[in-house]
Amino acid sequence: MTEVLLGDYHVHSTFSDDAESSLGENLAAAAAVGLREIRLTDHVRQATTWVPEFVAAVAAEPRDPSLTVFTGVEAKLLDASGAVDVPPGLLAGISGLDAIVIGDHQFPGTDGPWSPSQTREKLSGGLAASDALDLLIVAGNRAMESTANAQLAHWFSILPKVGLSEDELGDDQLRSWAGTAAATATIIEVNEKWGCPGPRAIRAALDAGARVVASTDSHSAGDVGRYERVAAILRDAGSR
Ligand SMILES: [Zn+2]
Ligand SMILES: [Zn+2]
Repeated sequence: MTEVLLGDYHVHSTFSDDAESSLGENLAAAAAVGLREIRLTDHVRQATTWVPEFVAAVAAEPRDPSLTVFTGVEAKLLDASGAVDVPPGLLAGISGLDAIVIGDHQFPGTDGPWSPSQTREKLSGGLAASDALDLLIVAGNRAMESTANAQLAHWFSILPKVGLSEDELGDDQLRSWAGTAAATATIIEVNEKWGCPGPRAIRAALDAGARVVASTDSHSAGDVGRYERVAAILRDAGSR
């Protein structure tokens, strides 16, 4: 599984508002730390218009011949239907865009995205934790089923923000999530910045035959390909 650590499947550039390194700086950093694969990934929402420009800019960047470069756009899971906040009609797998990287940035509510504070209010107002967890699992499964060439970013990072934990997920819920990822060929990343999903979820993903990759979610080239938490999670998951 150490080979997994030779990839970084979630690296932001200045195409994202909150990141500081250029595409070229990230590619140079990846080559410098000996990565073999990188996914250059920037934040989009429905109104984003620069995806063709991003893909062209990536294609135009010189890169080390030992480094394979993939592209992705990161968009949030919106609601329980599994809708994702991408520009209308945007598809991955064509036109140089390799993946839609789906982030659990908000809780996927029945009537749209719930902020962490809204979700906490619902939980203290009577929404059972098990029902909230079901909502997240079902929404994620629907998003995987309706999004071709998907990758799940830092999955379950929303749980601590709403006062819940991966430990509260049942084995059946994890099996459903992992099985859907395998059946839909959705990639699951283990994320350095957020330290998730944890070993138990990654074990379930591997058992189901889902593809697991490493990512830093870097917003600065100095972080590209550098892992501590991901290495520990993979080790604890018993991956080989
Ligand atoms: Zn994210
Ligand atoms: Zn990100």
